[in-house]
Amino acid sequence: MRSQELFDRARACIPGGVNSPVRAFGSVGMAPRFIARAKGDRIWDVEGNEYIDYIGSWGPMILGHAHPAVLEAVERAARDGLSFGAATEREVEMAELICGIVPSVEMVRMVNSGTEAVMSAVRAARGFTGRDKIVKFAGCYHGHSDAMLVKAGSGVMTQGIPGSSGVPQGCTRDTLTATYNDLDSVKALFEANPGEIAAVIVEPVGTNMGVVPPEPGFLQGLRAICDANGALLIFDEVITGFRLALDGAQGFYGVRPDLTTFGKIIGGGMPVGAYGGRRDIMSMVAPMGPVYQAGTLSGNPVAMAAGLAQLKLLRDTPDLYAKLNRAGDEFFAALDGILSDAGVPHCVNHVGSLGCVFFTPEKVGNYAEAQTSDTGRYAAYFKHMLGSGIYLAPSQFEAMFLSTAHTPEDLRRTLDAVREFVK
Ligand SMILES: *Cc1c(COP(=O)(O)O)cnc(C)c1O
Repeated sequence: MRSQELFDRARACIPGGVNSPVRAFGSVGMAPRFIARAKGDRIWDVEGNEYIDYIGSWGPMILGHAHPAVLEAVERAARDGLSFGAATEREVEMAELICGIVPSVEMVRMVNSGTEAVMSAVRAARGFTGRDKIVKFAGCYHGHSDAMLVKAGSGVMTQGIPGSSGVPQGCTRDTLTATYNDLDSVKALFEANPGEIAAVIVEPVGTNMGVVPPEPGFLQGLRAICDANGALLIFDEVITGFRLALDGAQGFYGVRPDLTTFGKIIGGGMPVGAYGGRRDIMSMVAPMGPVYQAGTLSGNPVAMAAGLAQLKLLRDTPDLYAKLNRAGDEFFAALDGILSDAGVPHCVNHVGSLGCVFFTPEKVGNYAEAQTSDTGRYAAYFKHMLGSGIYLAPSQFEAMFLSTAHTPEDLRRTLDAVREFVK
């Protein structure tokens, strides 16, 4: 079996055999499949097995894999040289496109990953407010920068316990943790730290503890609390940006953040991130202002070409989001129905094309509730689906991503495989 051989070789020279932990399939107790190629909603492993893919590179492939227009843009850009370390026209086009699409973004800076986008946005928020403390939510993932790696799920008032070895106490001392969908937990942190909180950062839809939608009024409440306390509101739209709507979760829910971080979809499959927002805040960033942030490969011409091609397709295709969100509504309702009919304890959460099934009888609205899931059952479900040619996230606490390339026939086939599993 070639995936197994590659995994054995990989483990000898790459930590855990992978370049990002979830790829190792550790939480489903299997060896990972090594992927050779992908097209549309299909992905093929090195053995030649074909799967309907519901990961989509964890979000970027909203138009399906290897979209011809994106590939052509990449090929054309590559022929002119891969990197200059100098200003280019495509970067201007990209910034204008983003500012034109997302009203809260008046200025934007390109970086190379979602991690970098969040790290830089937090720095800008601290520089602008002159305050050090940041509020994040248990179960929200904001990349792997030191200050954001605070142990999730450790309760409302938990202060600064690093969630990773190698992160000094000092780096997370100013990171406060609140409970998702619980405005009182946020108010309590502001009361305990008056005049010290620079920003609240939130995934406007929780997508890294499984999918956890915001309850009505939660995001609006965060906006009001920040305004009342002179703090900034940062939406981490690395997953939700250009997915729930063209203007992201902020458009979908009608709440305007001060700063926004992007990644994943914005690069069309290339390594890209971005952070942007209010002009007065972004004017703090070097070389305009005193907040230093830089990048040798930032705004890379090939990456910009891929991102621009994908964003333009998203912008210019009529009804794309209405259709994609409707497909998500129908798919996740059908999934819910199958599990209900079979009497399987479950909670299907979804927003548009993002969703997941928790194997728990609880309603899941935060990290602690997500933790009640039967991960053994998820592992069995994952294994069954993979064996049926359906490639899901190899963890209970990740999302399923639908793309515009998923056909009604493929969605039906997927639901049939779920029916087999619960039979
Ligand atoms: C993936 C993700 C990140 C980190 O992005 P990378 O490109 O993996 O560094 C940050 N925030 C959210 C919400 C994410 O899903």
